[in-house]
Amino acid sequence: MNTVILKPGKEHSVLRRHPWIFSGAVGKVEGNPANGETVRILDSKKNFLGCGAWSNASSIAVRIWSFDPDEAIDAAFFQRKTAVAYELRKRIFNGSLPDAFRLVYAESDGLPGVIADLYRNYAVIQLSTAGADHFRAEIVEALAPYAPGGIYERSDVDGRKRESLEPVKGLLHGGPLPDQIDFTENGIRFQCDPVTGHKTGFYLDQRINRAIVSTEMPAGAEVLNCFCYTGGFGLAALKGGAAKVINVDSSEPALEQARIHAGLNGFSEDRFQTVCADVFQYLRRCRDAAQSFDAIILDPPKFADTVAQREKAARGYKDLNLLAMKLLRPGGKLFTFSCSGAMDDELFAKVIASAAQDAKADFRIVRKLMQGPDHAVSANFPEGHYLKGIYGILAARG
Ligand code: SAH
Repeated sequence: MNTVILKPGKEHSVLRRHPWIFSGAVGKVEGNPANGETVRILDSKKNFLGCGAWSNASSIAVRIWSFDPDEAIDAAFFQRKTAVAYELRKRIFNGSLPDAFRLVYAESDGLPGVIADLYRNYAVIQLSTAGADHFRAEIVEALAPYAPGGIYERSDVDGRKRESLEPVKGLLHGGPLPDQIDFTENGIRFQCDPVTGHKTGFYLDQRINRAIVSTEMPAGAEVLNCFCYTGGFGLAALKGGAAKVINVDSSEPALEQARIHAGLNGFSEDRFQTVCADVFQYLRRCRDAAQSFDAIILDPPKFADTVAQREKAARGYKDLNLLAMKLLRPGGKLFTFSCSGAMDDELFAKVIASAAQDAKADFRIVRKLMQGPDHAVSANFPEGHYLKGIYGILAARG
């Protein structure tokens, strides 16, 4: 097997079981591994550290599959990892698995680059790294028992460029998948389009936060749901007793699906309104028209991919949150999120503090939020914690 020998002192993160080896840590490569091929990893004194997937192009040269010198990376390996992931989800959901959940969450489940989301008996998967791409057949075989309806690949993700892989999508097993997969979340009916929907079709990571929005919704509230996509938070707000929700997104197809969801759940168009607009502009228009709300949800797309983009992203988040705080009535509730991995908890909290200061708001943080439990983060891989949220109340103004 091809072998990667690390520079002296570069083994520490691997010994702490962090699964990434950056190209700068690599001292020597013995052999000529192809992109995605499995390599042995040794420290500078030739002690075995692990086996991982070699990546030709990425700044992450190796992603570790196993720290066990006796473990082969083969079909059985992927079956074992998938079975562990499934058992963990059963524990997480106390034996009653929801209709739709994340079965495999990449590094956190010991499978770097592999995402598998289950929607009833269908799986929609993303293989975003050279190693995951290399083992496509084994991964599909391992997932097949959990997805008897079929497995569809949505590896049309930006990350593949960094691995010199082309975007790919298509049916990998069984099927065909329906154009719209029906499922329920927290008692609300949804559909997702596995072929054209965002990510694997739905933002499963927000399931728990949608439940919190339901529970915390003041009765009769007038709600603004920004970046609504197919309306998940808006429907959760109505289920929780809101009188009316305005759902804003810049994507007309997403709004069309949101309206279908409202119909499926028996909510009328005057309670579930949709507006196709840029949220930044819409919030300014609301401010200029002196509109106000009892609850606002801000769930923007990722503003920062890298640490370098963090400053600019922070300004974007501040702008949004400042505007939202100006539109909240006293006692109003804000549910605000950032899914940028590059924005850590501390920076996000700072942004919210600075927005509150500029909005002259006495803003109280009631609860910090994160991605749902099926996206549990490996303790050795803090990078897996990407979704941060704050639920707070505007206690008073001035
Ligand atoms: N809250 C949603 C997920 C939001 S994803 C849910 O629970 O399912 C982010 C959404 O923001 C996408 O639907 C995208 O179309 C929309 N979007 C991105 N930039 C936008 C902008 N500037 N104004 C309005 N919508 C935007």
